[in-house]
Amino acid sequence: AKRGGGTAYAFFEPHMNAGVREQIELQRDLRQAIERGELELHYQPKVSSGRNVITGVEALARWKHPVRGMLSPGVFIPIAERFGLINALGNWVIEEACHQVSRWRDQGLRIRVAINLSVHQLRQDDLVPRVEKALRTHHLDPALVIFEVTESVAMEDAAGTLATFERLGGIGVKLSIDDFGTGYSSLSYLRQLQVSQLKIDQSFVRDLETSADARAIVKAVVGLAHALNLSVVAEGVETEAQRDVLTALKCDELQGYLYAKPMTAALMGQWALDIDP
Ligand code: C2E
Ligand code: CA
Ligand code: CA
Ligand code: CA
Repeated sequence: AKRGGGTAYAFFEPHMNAGVREQIELQRDLRQAIERGELELHYQPKVSSGRNVITGVEALARWKHPVRGMLSPGVFIPIAERFGLINALGNWVIEEACHQVSRWRDQGLRIRVAINLSVHQLRQDDLVPRVEKALRTHHLDPALVIFEVTESVAMEDAAGTLATFERLGGIGVKLSIDDFGTGYSSLSYLRQLQVSQLKIDQSFVRDLETSADARAIVKAVVGLAHALNLSVVAEGVETEAQRDVLTALKCDELQGYLYAKPMTAALMGQWALDIDP
């Protein structure tokens, strides 16, 4: 398979196992789904830990395969990355998320959207112009858009990430480090990156009630973030006990099934109206 460009050539070889064949079939279907606009975005709210107000939503890609049914992005995002489809997919996500925020705005809702960026998108030459174009097309305040990049991706090419973050920050969008705590970023690098948010990985949230280490890590991350003037979001909040610990540890925003699962744009708009009329 040829990587990186817009095209990928895939051949069946007799020695390929079922897993590889399946991936090749999936990439063919995914390519078609992207071209035909068959992907969807669902949205999951983040709420402030103190008061129950919505602080934003995260856009999460969804693909309903005609035969296999709903597929998780945990399955199709890696396929998109592997077969050179991630930029086409990611560009669609940016355009659609911005479009949706503008539709909400036209309904009187001011909702910030978080958009996940993969490593290939960060290295895409025209990422910044594309973001600018989406903002312009939908007359959006750039501050309504925040990009989430995982800590491990941000670290993989530290100099490249720094340069791209500077350009993104320059057009006024916000930046967040996703799955924080699972990579190894240094303090000085974090400070240089000019992000506005750290997102604590759900593995720490899951272990909060049982592990003193997880609590210590969350406490340290919140302390670090606040010292650097960043806000902290915890993802994967499922129980009231987790919410209470995170609130006591001064985590700023919470996201997880306790509040809501990712949902369609229409339901998200209704949810926002209900919680924050
Ligand atoms: P992520 O960015 O870390 O997103 C959080 C994942 O946790 C989402 O899974 C979300 O539905 C799930 N989640 C939210 N609350 C809870 C909870 O309380 N408990 C549990 N167990 N899970 C919760 P999802 O939607 O399946 O997405 C998986 C991953 O796929 C995302 O992880 C992200 O890395 C990637 N992804 C999704 N959409 C996009 C996209 O548009 N572009 C890129 N590049 N990646 C995407
Ligand atoms: Ca994310
Ligand atoms: Ca995450
Ligand atoms: Ca995660």
